[in-house]
Amino acid sequence: MFEIFFLGTGGGRFATITQKLRTGGIRILSNELNIHIDPGPGALIYSLEAGLNPQKINGVLVSHSHLDHTNDAEILIEAMTAGGTKKKGTLAAASSVLYGNDICDKAISNYHRNLPEKVIEAKAGTEFEIHNLHVTVGKAVHSDPDTVGFRFQMNGFGDVAYMPDSEYFEGIRDFYGGVKLLILSVLRPFGKPWKGHMSSDDAAKIINEIRPEMAVITHLGMLMILKGPDHEANLIAEETGIPTIAAKDGMRLALGKEISIGKPEKQTGLDSYIKPHSSDQFS
Ligand SMILES: [Zn+2]
Repeated sequence: MFEIFFLGTGGGRFATITQKLRTGGIRILSNELNIHIDPGPGALIYSLEAGLNPQKINGVLVSHSHLDHTNDAEILIEAMTAGGTKKKGTLAAASSVLYGNDICDKAISNYHRNLPEKVIEAKAGTEFEIHNLHVTVGKAVHSDPDTVGFRFQMNGFGDVAYMPDSEYFEGIRDFYGGVKLLILSVLRPFGKPWKGHMSSDDAAKIINEIRPEMAVITHLGMLMILKGPDHEANLIAEETGIPTIAAKDGMRLALGKEISIGKPEKQTGLDSYIKPHSSDQFS
């Protein structure tokens, strides 16, 4: 059984500065796995607050070198490596995050880059394992040209993909086709396109092409927050016919044979999960 824990669902400058929605990123949990994806500002604090001991992290994944994705990466690497005293865990990050590029400075110092047991420069097509989880790196098109997405093969469930900030691109199905659950970073609502980012229009187009069993929108920006993420998710579901929900800070998805949505409260144990909504509730 895998669990996806949304420590934060905010994205973009103003959601981050105001913490209208949290920017802690996403945690993947199983018996063996404790992987943090895109630790923006607050990842450490919200992790501690949620009772998820950051010292149990065994993987840190970073999609690109923007602050709302990278801010807490170094401190989580310190947590993962017992304060830098033990070579432990995997760091998989876009080239820009590790080394910088012409547009973005690197986001992880040489000191921190040398702490984990394994460091992977994530480029489209790169594949690696963290314990029993097979991860494939996917393409993304964003203002950081090294931006990547991640696709996870979850035994007993199916594939889950996380697409960070990106615009739609030709051949998107080559990387993300066939996934059961698609997590998209939808910064902006319908009618507010922004090059290199996803609006609800782009999300609907992507979901329509990928046709997952369910889609989750997260990394919600201020314009999206003002419009109402649940409303936008409903419109996307209507347009695509694919059940789509807006992630909530603290929301958990349990991925067994099917997807169960955990209430966004501090609870432990599987009995805190409610049954998944039927798809007609989304349309
Ligand atoms: Zn970005």
